[in-house]
Amino acid sequence: MVTAAGSTEADVLCRDGRIAALLDPGGAAAPAGADELLDARGQLVFPGFIDPHVHSRDPGATHKETFAHSTLGALCGGITTTLEMPNAIPAVADLATFRSRRAEHEPRAWTDFGLWGLALGPDNADEIAAMFGEGAVAVKLFWGYALHRETKGLVYNFADEPPENLLLPPENGEVLELFRSVAATGGVLAAHCEDRHILAASAERLGHPIETYADLLAARPAVAEATSIAVGAQFARETGCRFHVVHMASRMGAETVRQAQALGAPVTAETCPQYLTLSAADADRLGPLIKVYPPVRDAENQQALWDALGDGTICSVGSDHAPHTVDEKNLGFGAAPAGGVGIETMAPLLVDGMLRGKVSPQRLARVLSTDTARLYGLWPRKGDIRPGADADLTLVDPQAQHTVRNERLHALNPNSTWHGAELKGAVTASVLGGRLSMRDGEPVGERHGRFVAADHARTRAAEAAAGEAAA
Ligand SMILES: [Zn+2]
Repeated sequence: MVTAAGSTEADVLCRDGRIAALLDPGGAAAPAGADELLDARGQLVFPGFIDPHVHSRDPGATHKETFAHSTLGALCGGITTTLEMPNAIPAVADLATFRSRRAEHEPRAWTDFGLWGLALGPDNADEIAAMFGEGAVAVKLFWGYALHRETKGLVYNFADEPPENLLLPPENGEVLELFRSVAATGGVLAAHCEDRHILAASAERLGHPIETYADLLAARPAVAEATSIAVGAQFARETGCRFHVVHMASRMGAETVRQAQALGAPVTAETCPQYLTLSAADADRLGPLIKVYPPVRDAENQQALWDALGDGTICSVGSDHAPHTVDEKNLGFGAAPAGGVGIETMAPLLVDGMLRGKVSPQRLARVLSTDTARLYGLWPRKGDIRPGADADLTLVDPQAQHTVRNERLHALNPNSTWHGAELKGAVTASVLGGRLSMRDGEPVGERHGRFVAADHARTRAAEAAAGEAAA
């Protein structure tokens, strides 16, 4: 059993969907009277992995992906809880849409799931507290992106739309007010961090549209990420709002987060498997498959992200599963949209990293489960193997080998950046709510995922109690 606290041997007794007890390994108490026995000898048993960064494209772009496909892929890749990003169409920017999205997704969920809300700034300031009250795990600011006035879909290039259709991104003064309003809820404000003015100036300096990977790096430099992080960190210090940097991709970004944390700012960060496993050296081989925002950088940046994962600067890993059709990704480097499938390969790639010595088993338990659950107000119900917690477990065979194959993935458009990758270890089984729900990359039984409401106040209270107990 591998948890944030360490590795031990135990029998895990599950009852009515929860962990009932941890028993001496092989003791007489466990098997006696159990309806079902899962033999995990020789395996590492982690608290069920959580993917906090999922764009299922549902509703609004279900030719790219659906919630049923993404949660099935998650389950088959060892994830037991997914947190769905708010920017489907319509976006989850108000309480009514939050409730309807929950109702639409619940019957289709292969994993337990939580929902993000969208933070627009002044345009939905009144809805933020209501969404947190309904169990939103966090709110997301697509900092610097315009939004379509009607659909609330993201507009990557302002020139693509007539100005009257655009909701321009909030200016810094408005963003500071947003930090204040999220601070008042006790929730988390997460942001896409790439300063839009630096992006605009960099594109202008490039002088022509993006055609190659080198153009992409020139147009989206690391300083754009670090600058937004630095501004957000000061806003977090000023307001006490918890600020989370999603998909951090650069050494400069990691250094900025580390400095802010040293000053006591409530700043946390996420990175993604693409930034931990790919680098500029893969660009020619992958073509548009490597195109994500912020971009994948060089090997030095990749190592800095592993270091930040190891020392706790980065507390959570998410897939940023953001599928497009195969045809869309084949449009050529400049025209292809950013993003790709990743939910089913996230845990296998991180397990491979662990077995290659890049991250310890305990740290893996934290970034894929415990610390993610804490950040999003789900702990100790999720993210731990302790009596009373949901009986969600992910089993890993450290001796096995795993080859990523598109034809084995469950995405609607199985077009993986890692097709053909040969990985150490394998995710072999998942228990969700006390039921064996996945084995060897395929589901077991009917889908039974449920909506999980975040409760940040409860997580805070449990953390305080655990801290006192430890003291
Ligand atoms: Zn994303």
